[in-house]
Amino acid sequence: MNIQTDTTHDPKATSWVESANAAESEFPIQNLPFGAFRRRGSDEAARIGVAIGDQILDLQRALQQGGWSSAIQGLLQPLAQGDLNAHMARSAEERLALRHALFEALLSGSEQEAALRGALVAQADAEMLLPCRITDYTDFYTGIHHATTVGKLFRPDNPLLPNYKWVPIGYHGRSSSIVVSGTGIRRPWGQRKAPDAAEPTFAPSQRLDYELELGAFVAGGNALGEPIAMEKAEQHLFGLTLLNDWSARDIQPWEYQPLGPFLAKNFGTTISPWIVTMEALAPFRTAFERPAEDPQPLPYLDSAQNRTQGAFNIELEVWIETAAMRAAGLPAERLSQSNFRDAYWTWAQMLTHHASGGCNMNPGDLLGSGTQSGPRPEQGGSLLELSLGGKQAIRLANGETRTFLQDGDRLMLRGRAVAEGARSIGFGECSAEMLPAR
Ligand code: MN
Repeated sequence: MNIQTDTTHDPKATSWVESANAAESEFPIQNLPFGAFRRRGSDEAARIGVAIGDQILDLQRALQQGGWSSAIQGLLQPLAQGDLNAHMARSAEERLALRHALFEALLSGSEQEAALRGALVAQADAEMLLPCRITDYTDFYTGIHHATTVGKLFRPDNPLLPNYKWVPIGYHGRSSSIVVSGTGIRRPWGQRKAPDAAEPTFAPSQRLDYELELGAFVAGGNALGEPIAMEKAEQHLFGLTLLNDWSARDIQPWEYQPLGPFLAKNFGTTISPWIVTMEALAPFRTAFERPAEDPQPLPYLDSAQNRTQGAFNIELEVWIETAAMRAAGLPAERLSQSNFRDAYWTWAQMLTHHASGGCNMNPGDLLGSGTQSGPRPEQGGSLLELSLGGKQAIRLANGETRTFLQDGDRLMLRGRAVAEGARSIGFGECSAEMLPAR
């Protein structure tokens, strides 16, 4: 399968939803991401919608308004009932057919404009919810610059463990504590032990941190015992979100050996509300390359398509707004920038490796990419890196300093897919405010 761009990626295409045509819009007609929402102030059940400009096309009302072929009506049925997982389980061909139908319906000059105007909800009038049932969650560790810098802090003599360049490393996280952007994150209590202390203490974390990541939702799954081949992996991927893997850096070093992260990570994970589909991301694919001196992937993690198209050009950013900045009316400040192109493994490799022993993946499973830090020190995707393990405070423009997050800080991730000759598309916001420990 060679993934190609089509008419839905035409950079000149415009929508009758005027706000989608603004150059800065993250949701032009070429994007069409899925999310779940309810109208603000109501207690209605979750509705599935597609972001277009500053609006949402409510798929329940869109189906009622008509103008769809009978095949597309069938595809819209579970979405109109609020069930995105059922749509994720559909074949790649069916998902592509719905994308084309939504594109045609929202295109400037579409005959469906009059009918669908009444199916729009302003994003400002919507409360975003988790986009689907997140059935399971695994976080990988594909940021080699992050792994090396953090490895140096935890193990100065042995920063990158010998398995790193052979195995896509991951740990099994908790799906129960994944929340949508805008949900407050409470500072966790936990066990921590200073290197020179005789015994640990149980107290609120003093080293609360974020991790700049992307998340990938699994589409159709595999049966238990049946692996997913690299050549089929792309068809099993639904789309991407921004993901913040909140981390307690004082709990982590004390608990992580020998079985990996546990309470340092499971108190909360934030995702952005819109799932940007793999179809929308086709123009932003790029070659997966390994430095010549590094081992090449084992055959089960290699494919011709992965070599030419497995990676993605997605610019990533982290922003902070402290309580003092908010009170003074100061704008948020950018902490770092990096690009997902620098990941050591691709989504296809993460998924294939996960299923390679027969583990069954399901529609709605979420994979985290691991922290995406760039090659330069100022490109660290966590405060652990930017503050050199808490030894060197970051100075903000208003004079405040940070080694780790303080209560009242609001942390935001942003992402934008860019490519020559393509209309760039965005991910919306992945943000949360730090709440004091209970
Ligand atoms: Mn992580």
